[in-house]
Amino acid sequence: MSVITFFYVLVFIFGTMIGSFLNVLICRLPKDEDVVFKRSHCTQCGAVLKWYQNIPLVSYLVLRGKCAKCKVHISIQYIIVELIMGLAAILIFDGKIGVDSIAPFLFKFSVVSVFIVHFVIDFRHKILPDSLNLYLAMIFLAWSLLHESLLYWLVGGAVGLLFPWFVTWIFYKVRGVVGLGGGDIKLFGALGLYLGPLGIINNIFFSCFSGAILGGIFLLVTKKGRDTQIPFGPFIIVVAFVQIFFPGIIESLLEFK
Ligand SMILES: [Zn+2]
Repeated sequence: MSVITFFYVLVFIFGTMIGSFLNVLICRLPKDEDVVFKRSHCTQCGAVLKWYQNIPLVSYLVLRGKCAKCKVHISIQYIIVELIMGLAAILIFDGKIGVDSIAPFLFKFSVVSVFIVHFVIDFRHKILPDSLNLYLAMIFLAWSLLHESLLYWLVGGAVGLLFPWFVTWIFYKVRGVVGLGGGDIKLFGALGLYLGPLGIINNIFFSCFSGAILGGIFLLVTKKGRDTQIPFGPFIIVVAFVQIFFPGIIESLLEFK
């Protein structure tokens, strides 16, 4: 095995291990449980996992998706998140091994990590935890400080917070309904720090637009009532993901010609 292949394998394993930790966050953050000091256990029977039952990807396959003790079915989410993070780590890793590559790698990998946890938690529980929004804001602020454009990004953060908050307030005054949740508004604020004033307005526009269309289709297909709550976070996150990792695509879609 060449040195670079060896590094790719290491990076993949690193990704799956972080994915394994993200699964813990996904399960425990909505329940306000300790995410660091409590050992991994079966949520059904409480059996504490032995170290060899806690190996990313491998353990799920060996246990065939069931708890070793009570045989309860373990959600496929575990192996999917581990696999996605392993692949994400490989895709983000630029093949260069050096000090200059570490900061961009950690930045992008952290963003993907927060996005996937946010996505799954909001999809399942309809909440975007404050701790994740705060963490995301800190990563973006640190990145902005390194790249000397603090004022621009701070304006982006302010626009990201105030614009949706203002629209929600107007909406509430006119229709008496709360449109966006506090978590959505805080997420816009955090994203604004990186996307800047124009980028965050593009995100708000595009996520609202796609959310309204796909949400409408969902209500039609499932024949659910209009008051059914649809998590909005996943739309914001997918749009932000495209903006950060494939810059230009959302912008070109928004250019009306
Ligand atoms: Zn069990």
